[in-house]
Amino acid sequence: MDTGLKDKKAIVLAASKGLGKAAAQSLAAEGCHLAICARNEEQLNKTADQFKASGVDVFASAVDVANPGALKQFMEQSIERLGGVDILVTNAGGPPVKSFEETNEEEWRYWYEVTFMTVVRSIKSVLPLLKKQNWGRIINITSISVKAPVERLIYSNALRLAVVGLAKTLSIELGPFNITVNNVAPGYHLTDGLERIVKKRMEAGETREDIFAAWENKIPMRRIGQPGDLAGLIVFLASEQAGYITGATIQVDGGLYPGTL
Ligand code: NAD
Repeated sequence: MDTGLKDKKAIVLAASKGLGKAAAQSLAAEGCHLAICARNEEQLNKTADQFKASGVDVFASAVDVANPGALKQFMEQSIERLGGVDILVTNAGGPPVKSFEETNEEEWRYWYEVTFMTVVRSIKSVLPLLKKQNWGRIINITSISVKAPVERLIYSNALRLAVVGLAKTLSIELGPFNITVNNVAPGYHLTDGLERIVKKRMEAGETREDIFAAWENKIPMRRIGQPGDLAGLIVFLASEQAGYITGATIQVDGGLYPGTL
């Protein structure tokens, strides 16, 4: 399949590790030039060097996407360094494991900024160009929590639904400009982010074996996903072939989500 992605320009947020890295890596493998960010400069540069080995241009900048000024500057620099933009993959670190009673107002505000406003702000930055060129792909990495709440992930369960509402609305506004807007909703994927959740549960007394066994038993495919499992869908949604898919939220969860639709 020719994805048509060779020499397209993609900005992938929070891409030094985990799902963001896998998305960027798979886009690079298709010949996309990349702009990536993450907070830790050393890890980010290591990742950027790996991508450059695919022969694509890579602009990398250590940025906290929760900082509006830094995010705006990164988006502007990315567009300048890449000479434009075609694809935006939004992503950030995930909120902590908490029940409602463990939450507080300050954290609600912080995770609203990280989970929702980074998506709003980064889309605002690319929109004028995407509209002008009458071609664009916006793909938001959300979570299976938008389809069914995950136990003790209250911030994710509540705030990510705003991203889904935003994307669906934007798909209507931006369809006439040949811009698609979709969400991918990962189930459990083996990343440092997932390891943090495991650690928290182990501190509360569970064993690693029991945590993984319980997840794997609930997943029809009987395994935890690898970051590349999600990246395959992201590449497809970015491709020419996916030009008629917009406003969708697609889970990649080994069949975990129990609903029919
Ligand atoms: P991860 O912790 O393994 O990687 C996160 C990446 O984002 C790293 O590169 C990190 O440096 C970067 N990052 C984190 N916060 C940032 C910030 N404020 N500014 C810039 N960069 C930042 O996480 P992951 O497992 O790859 O998850 C990515 C997203 O997908 C998270 O929002 C997570 O909640 C969500 N998610 C993950 C899973 C899973 O099973 N891994 C499932 C559902 C949803």
